[in-house]
Amino acid sequence: MKPLQNTFNKYLFFLFSLATFIFLPAKLFADTDLRDFLNSDKFLDIALTKVSKYNQLFFIPASETMTIEAGNRQIYSGKTQKITIQAIKGNQMKLQIGSEKSLQLGGSVKIIPSADTTSYIQIKLSQRTSFSFRGNITVFSKNSTLKIINSVFIEDYLKSVVPSEIPPSAPLQAIEAQTVAARTYAIRNFNQHKKDNYNLCDSVHCQAYTGIAKEDSRTTKGVVNSIARILLAPSTKEPANTVYHSNCGGYLISSQAAWGGKAVSYLVGHYDGIKGYKPFCYFGNRYFKKQSLSGMPDKKQKLVVGVTPPYAKQKLFPSSGHRVGMCQDGATGMAACGYSCTQILKFYYPGTQLVKLNYGLSDSIRLIDDSYNKPKGTIADKPSATKDPLSAITDALKTKDPRILTTVSQTKQPEILTKSGKDMIKEAAERIKKQQEREKEAEKAKLKNKVEEIKTETLKKIKLPVTPATKKVIKK
Ligand SMILES: [Zn+2]
Ligand SMILES: [Zn+2]
Repeated sequence: MKPLQNTFNKYLFFLFSLATFIFLPAKLFADTDLRDFLNSDKFLDIALTKVSKYNQLFFIPASETMTIEAGNRQIYSGKTQKITIQAIKGNQMKLQIGSEKSLQLGGSVKIIPSADTTSYIQIKLSQRTSFSFRGNITVFSKNSTLKIINSVFIEDYLKSVVPSEIPPSAPLQAIEAQTVAARTYAIRNFNQHKKDNYNLCDSVHCQAYTGIAKEDSRTTKGVVNSIARILLAPSTKEPANTVYHSNCGGYLISSQAAWGGKAVSYLVGHYDGIKGYKPFCYFGNRYFKKQSLSGMPDKKQKLVVGVTPPYAKQKLFPSSGHRVGMCQDGATGMAACGYSCTQILKFYYPGTQLVKLNYGLSDSIRLIDDSYNKPKGTIADKPSATKDPLSAITDALKTKDPRILTTVSQTKQPEILTKSGKDMIKEAAERIKKQQEREKEAEKAKLKNKVEEIKTETLKKIKLPVTPATKKVIKK
């Protein structure tokens, strides 16, 4: 009896270690490595052109403590103090921290306020004029002028960009649609200024960005509601060309009609409204002017994109802007009718996919939003989900979502991945592969053990006396 008891104990011990073996690495992966992987590239480097024309500037971080780096070396860490930087000959800078520390250096200086959601840095040009930015500020000197780059979390960047693009008085669903378009634009143009060593500039050349002063709680809500969502072009699966304009005049025109070139399946000409009703932009315009909206369709009316010939340019009233993609007055009119953010996006960029992403590392971790991409838009009425992308990915990994596994291993779009991002994706793919292999091995061992158990049970049933010979059999 004793050897059998031992086998049973061994079996229990094996089961226990198997459980530890399978579940422990899975948990570690989801909580630790994945978090690093996700956090690695959420920042955009924005050139602050408006403040990059002075030879002396003052920096006042709004946080308890701060760190200053010169190149990659930390030169200050402690209580926050006013920083004065002056450009001098030979691309050198004079740096003064508070009233004590003063030094001269070349290269770049990075000011990092302590990590806090409310921290920012005030850049003072004079006693009266200043700008405030979230994130970190890098300063370098070129031809006796200070050049400033702001590394900012893309969602914080959008908090300042969106109110420059759409009035904060617009309905929330229109603001959300505008945010998705602006976020997609930022990701698509991530390499716009690669040769200048930053991602985007702060002027209308990229998207107008002026920092905290422009933020408005109403547009910030739209940014939060649509967190990390962008549109992908249907065929290439790259961030879509989410162009938008102020008012289409009643009919949108195709990208070909506006700019020539190849046809773009989601930038087609069509009536900006529902047959039998005035266009959405007619109502959107009246919405902003606080005029009567009578005769407006409601959200029960089915949305149909009736494509017009490629070079058609008809309109019903004066337009404003290029008339391609999303009509902003139209989006406002749609939201006023009760249509959701996803319905607005589907109407102005038909056939695109809505995905959640982690900036720069998008392809490896994006999750397709089924509610947007299902042909029958039943769930499209729902407002944008507020679940943050990190927990969505973590959940998906816990359930071993096959989409995650395939997208991690078959990552495309290398142009928007940083080198470190690529390495991390590779590493993550390897980890997943190894984990799958380990699980396979464990499964095999489990099977083997079952066979062993049956063997033992059979021996027990045929009541063989426990002799050294049977002991041997059991051991095998
Ligand atoms: Zn630019
Ligand atoms: Zn319109």
